Amino acid sequence: MDTPQDILRALGLNPDSLTGGTLSARSPIDGAELAQVHEHTVAQAHSAITRARQASLAWRDVPAPRRGELVRLFGEILRQHKRELGRLVSLEAGKIVAEGEGEVQEMIDICDFAVGLSRQLYGLTIASERPGHRMMETWHPLGVVGVISAFNFPVAVWSWNTALALVCGNAVVWKPSEKTPLTALACQALFTQAAQRFGDAPAGLSEVLIGGRDIGEALVDSHAVALVSATGSTRMGRQVGPRVAQRFGRVLLELGGNNAIIVGPTADLDMAARGIVFGAIGTAGQRCTSTRRLIVHESVADDLVQRLHKAYASAPIGNPLDGTKLVGPLIDRTSFDAMQAALNAAREQGGKVTGGERVLADEYPNAWYVRPAIAEMPGQTDVVCHETFAPILYVMRYTDFAQALAMQNGVPQGLSSAIFTNDLREAETFLSAAGSDCGIANVNIGTSGAEIGGAFGGEKETGGGRESGSDAWRNYMRRATNTINYSRHLPLAQGIKFGE
Ligand code: NAD
Repeated sequence: MDTPQDILRALGLNPDSLTGGTLSARSPIDGAELAQVHEHTVAQAHSAITRARQASLAWRDVPAPRRGELVRLFGEILRQHKRELGRLVSLEAGKIVAEGEGEVQEMIDICDFAVGLSRQLYGLTIASERPGHRMMETWHPLGVVGVISAFNFPVAVWSWNTALALVCGNAVVWKPSEKTPLTALACQALFTQAAQRFGDAPAGLSEVLIGGRDIGEALVDSHAVALVSATGSTRMGRQVGPRVAQRFGRVLLELGGNNAIIVGPTADLDMAARGIVFGAIGTAGQRCTSTRRLIVHESVADDLVQRLHKAYASAPIGNPLDGTKLVGPLIDRTSFDAMQAALNAAREQGGKVTGGERVLADEYPNAWYVRPAIAEMPGQTDVVCHETFAPILYVMRYTDFAQALAMQNGVPQGLSSAIFTNDLREAETFLSAAGSDCGIANVNIGTSGAEIGGAFGGEKETGGGRESGSDAWRNYMRRATNTINYSRHLPLAQGIKFGE
């Protein structure tokens, strides 16, 4: 198997340059130190923003389809390095190999999407009320886009933002999670290769800043950063949102989720069980779209819960690199402590908890593997309404559909949701205005594993942002409304007569 050093080299990084820094990059797989990364100072962050600003001034004049060519080349380089980058994601974030590579595939997919988009940045032509006039809408680049990202999707989130931001004519400054600096440096190295192949991309088009909250704050407070796209906890969004608004900057917030699956009396329980298990224990419950709540009809609850216990008992937990495991480690000890605190609260609030204990402690004393937990709750108590970023599935029973919907919507977060049912009325009601209040609402598939073609994001405390597919590109551009008079007169709108 390749050593971490081999992987770094294959991705264009020199392991010797990743020593002696103040940020210790550790693998959650065994707690081993992978590198000591040099952190940027706030002054360096400002210089990077200035370079990006300069780059954006040149880049905005490059025709959008040509900008798409750079993203196409980047997608090609990602295809060539999918295995190595996926492995680095596994090493740094603890994802199983299939999910590490899956994340890189998501990067490739968004590059393809963005390349097509580079020829489709359409504006409208609008009927004018005045004779001899034409109205239209044009879309222009914003300038510099700041990206702040979370540890659990260390590369995909950046690429969702960057591929679109670049074809839209912007430069990007990225502040990755301090828990995953190496994947960020690897992405930057691969991007640099793409820029070299492209030929005349301006320097500073993509900048990476390594550091903690103070570096993120430099992006948040800089007037030169037109849009701050921030992915992470609701706590972070609560700080970032108002600060950017204070300077009238734009924000795109992708924050915490508390995603539920409703299982109705007519559901296909085999399918439902598969969807729930993947959503609840995949990525060790560390996806923003992880299934955290199961709202199941009382007539099928015993059967379904029994199936879940069986699946949980046989889910292999362990080193995510070995290819046979489905559940890797939690990111760190803080995460483990938060899980234990939530399970204790669940017990105090009347829950019956199975699993949740630490495993493999002898083999990996410096890593945090857990058995995924199922907590059967008497109702949607306080702990159920919080996002705990760990594999805990709260199970609640219901008797009538309106009650299930009220429970689904009765939490502060609004990211992803799903229903398993074969009842058309239930399915359509779930998708209707009176149904799920989430940004993502699915029928007969689970809550996690979104495709890049759709807009991704959620409501309420999830922050309201939308990234990735559909028309999310508009977030990265500013709209101008243009009225052109090709007549010899100057009629005023609304028929106003002024001094005539
Ligand atoms: P986190 O909030 O601790 O950190 C996220 C990023 O924000 C990091 O880069 C961090 O350095 C930075 N940051 C924190 N406070 C900041 C501040 N005041 N100013 C500027 N930057 C600041 O989140 P995490 O633990 O890395 O990730 C897990 C969380 O992210 C979960 O809540 C999860 O649901 C959420 N998440 C959401 C999505 C989504 O698309 N909705 C995707 C992935 C993760």
